[in-house]
Amino acid sequence: MRGVRVALAALTTWSPVLCYHRIGGPLELGVTRVGRSVFARQMTALARAGWQTVNLTEFAARTPHAARRTFLLTFDDGYASLADSAYPVLADLGFSAMTFLITDYVGKTNAWDVRYTWNRLQHLSWPEIERWRGRGFEFASHGATHRRLTWLDDAAIAIELGSSRDVLAARLGADAGRAVAYPFGAVDARVVRQARSAGYELGFGGVKGGRTDALLHLSRVPVYFWDFGDVPFGLREDALGTLGRVVAHAANRCAVGTSVMQGLGARAAGLGKVTPSPEPRIPNP
Ligand SMILES: [Zn+2]
Repeated sequence: MRGVRVALAALTTWSPVLCYHRIGGPLELGVTRVGRSVFARQMTALARAGWQTVNLTEFAARTPHAARRTFLLTFDDGYASLADSAYPVLADLGFSAMTFLITDYVGKTNAWDVRYTWNRLQHLSWPEIERWRGRGFEFASHGATHRRLTWLDDAAIAIELGSSRDVLAARLGADAGRAVAYPFGAVDARVVRQARSAGYELGFGGVKGGRTDALLHLSRVPVYFWDFGDVPFGLREDALGTLGRVVAHAANRCAVGTSVMQGLGARAAGLGKVTPSPEPRIPNP
């Protein structure tokens, strides 16, 4: 009986999902940049310990792999430095990753973000995206302009999610329209409904997943600059991993960041209904 229960649990357990943002490139005042050497060391250590990445289809199927430990590796924001500092490292190890793109900013600089670096940062271009897609890397939506969806009215949410999905599907094919990572991890029941009606199958939020609609409110563990051990907190099953996830969740909720500034900017520009929630956010998740 116990064996049956364990087997059933394995069948319905999601692979853990790690969420990185920027790898390498200039230092910043924010917390989401991870150095290239730290990233390479972490990925190498995971590969040596038997971890393997899954693609979105394998992740969604929740197929248990008795002989190996699997995780879904994701990047938010689609910064250009991924092509130099992250993807080659992963390709050498036989890993792949899912990158969530801010579709209006593909090939452009990060005018959507508060300036935490001296110079504005470049995003991946379509030719770079297509080249890495040809090598098995996957791409999906992080909204059209990285607006915090829970602060917008229904019409504005529909535009953010719908136009982003349309662009991805037209440029990369239908598979690129399957998943969305909500900017700032900000998602509620209304955003989930909008994501479903826009046609998304899978939606990724912050550390805490949803209770009612798991597929469109999946949890991820962000990797911040202090998470520099060989195995990121999101893949550790010990007390340190638990503590690290609590800290990541707190950081995602407590620090002041981009969405507050965007809220002010959007209100000034009269863009949709903006209702700032009481909890500010950290820079550029
Ligand atoms: Zn983001």
